[in-house]
Amino acid sequence: MEQISNGIYKLTIPTPFLVGPVNTYLIEGDSLTLVDVGPNTVEAWEETKAQLQQVNKKVEDIENIILTHHHPDHIGMIEKFLPFATVYAHRKVKPWITKDKQFLFNALQFYEELYTSHGVPDAFITNMLEKKESYMNFSSIGRVDVEIKEGSRLHFLREWSVIETPGHAQSHISLYRKSDGVLIAGDHLIDHISSNAIIEPTYEGEKKRAEPLLDYRRSLQKCLDMKVAYSGHGAEIDNIDELIKKRINEQDKKAMQFKKMLSDKPKTCFELCMEKYHYIYEKQPDLTFSETLGHLDLLQSRKEIKQNVINGLIYYSQ
Ligand SMILES: [Zn+2]
Ligand SMILES: [Zn+2]
Repeated sequence: MEQISNGIYKLTIPTPFLVGPVNTYLIEGDSLTLVDVGPNTVEAWEETKAQLQQVNKKVEDIENIILTHHHPDHIGMIEKFLPFATVYAHRKVKPWITKDKQFLFNALQFYEELYTSHGVPDAFITNMLEKKESYMNFSSIGRVDVEIKEGSRLHFLREWSVIETPGHAQSHISLYRKSDGVLIAGDHLIDHISSNAIIEPTYEGEKKRAEPLLDYRRSLQKCLDMKVAYSGHGAEIDNIDELIKKRINEQDKKAMQFKKMLSDKPKTCFELCMEKYHYIYEKQPDLTFSETLGHLDLLQSRKEIKQNVINGLIYYSQ
């Protein structure tokens, strides 16, 4: 536990994931708030209790939980806080945190159809879907008591406002304190790794999947003038401007690499994914697939490439 600013404490909680520990933030205000809760593991729970104790706080003292997005490293332990706290999150956290059966069934079907149409072989699809399901096991079942969205004000954190930052997750929100330019950024901005813009299934009322990399770039633009970001992973970021420009440049460069790969013949998203991510795609098929499709979305939005459907498969070409 580390006090990082007046009334804001950072807890660093272990996760079983490649990304490493997750940061959750305790904020003192009219009442006590915790932003994100960590994964549903014994280690994370013990560590949370121990770090709260360092500032003489207990889990029971936390009256408000704000969730930045629905990933298990951020919401997993929610069940432990439910008896004492009101949960604030974007409406798109809801079907994940409640483990809505119909939504999850539709989500798996969405991914199966998406992967198939982009040329992913069946054996890989099975593996990718299993991974997605087992990832969910690091989340307990929770609820969202109050839905928050762009511009929402919280009566217990009067200086802060909610900004929607979709991209890494469609449910992603960040908290911004204008008076000193502080952003609690979740996984929207991470210093040591670039956040993946993950392809997500459609939500209620949506006919078309989102284009997460395009959303992510718009959400990055929103944060250009902010001063310091407290991230969901790793160190705080005090050169937000520079980091955002770096991320956008990296994406532009990567998009051009994909475009170049299409100079000889039309290819599917999965063919491009294998070509670009040789060995990594076997270990992280879903992340590399999202990364590839995201950049193809970007190129298509700029009309730099086009797509054709041949025998049910989507091919991209220059
Ligand atoms: Zn995340
Ligand atoms: Zn995370």
